[in-house]
Amino acid sequence: MKWVYSKGIHVTDAGIWLDPQRSKPFAFVSHAHSDHVARHQQILCSPVTAHLLHVRYRIAQDRLIKLPFFETREINGFLYQLLPAGHIAGSAMIHITELSSGATLLYTGDYKLRPSRAAENTVCLPADTLIMESTFGLPHYVLPPAEEIEAKLLDFVRKSIESGKSPILLGYSLGKAQEISAILAAHQQPFVVYHTIAAMTHACRDAGIELPIPFDWKGEIPAGYALIAPPQALREPAITGLKNYSSAILTGWAMDPSAKYRYRSSTAIPLSDHADFPDLLRLVDLVKPKKIFTLHGSTRELAATLRARGHEAWSIYGDDQLELSFG
Ligand SMILES: [Zn+2]
Repeated sequence: MKWVYSKGIHVTDAGIWLDPQRSKPFAFVSHAHSDHVARHQQILCSPVTAHLLHVRYRIAQDRLIKLPFFETREINGFLYQLLPAGHIAGSAMIHITELSSGATLLYTGDYKLRPSRAAENTVCLPADTLIMESTFGLPHYVLPPAEEIEAKLLDFVRKSIESGKSPILLGYSLGKAQEISAILAAHQQPFVVYHTIAAMTHACRDAGIELPIPFDWKGEIPAGYALIAPPQALREPAITGLKNYSSAILTGWAMDPSAKYRYRSSTAIPLSDHADFPDLLRLVDLVKPKKIFTLHGSTRELAATLRARGHEAWSIYGDDQLELSFG
């Protein structure tokens, strides 16, 4: 199967682009985060992503080709199947089979392997070629167990309230914020949400994702409640003007000790919608590819780790093949 990388993956004979940054005639969009979205003429995506693209970016319905998870569709001699990627609601990996040769490719998009309260559980399939996201591709990026992360989150909320401060939990409006709200609801912790989060939560619920009903924040945080807001809201006067609050940023980057300073929050809790290093390696074991290409983040480092483990693995940007010929 022939493909090239040029700000997106172009599977040339199929005529499809995978998560291209610029507008293309036919593209697969893995999920509804803005860095993966452009105004393509035809977009192949999961039904939940289609709904989010329509609500969030006003992409017309007639441009959206909805392919439910696990169903297969043949287009121009290639067979497509979408698999849940567990990153945010609707996020998908794409499995492509070239029918003439039988060659297979799995492109992960952003993904995680851990179960989520707000996204579908990940499923992957074996493929000859694996193109994988490698955000946390360094060995020190190891997340604590999920229960420990949730306990830390609840502990922060309860201790803030006990000390007379309103807890503010910071997470991106689509994905992280719904995960936080599902965790709080599961532990009967009341909360209100910033308006962009309410809009995205309604959109996810309308698309069939089970989530607690969001209640809009009205400029004051009721006693005993937490506020969920996007990180950039921490600069707004509506929040900086609040008298007594303490904030926690929820991000995988909290695995770096300096994260709380970077986000200007009181504390940082490592709740991530990306795979940590051990799960990046676990994905490779599950997919059993002959060839691996790494994309985003620590691409060269992860590819080198995989080569040391006996795989043929390269950064998709090609910047490590030179390194090898020097080595
Ligand atoms: Zn994403």
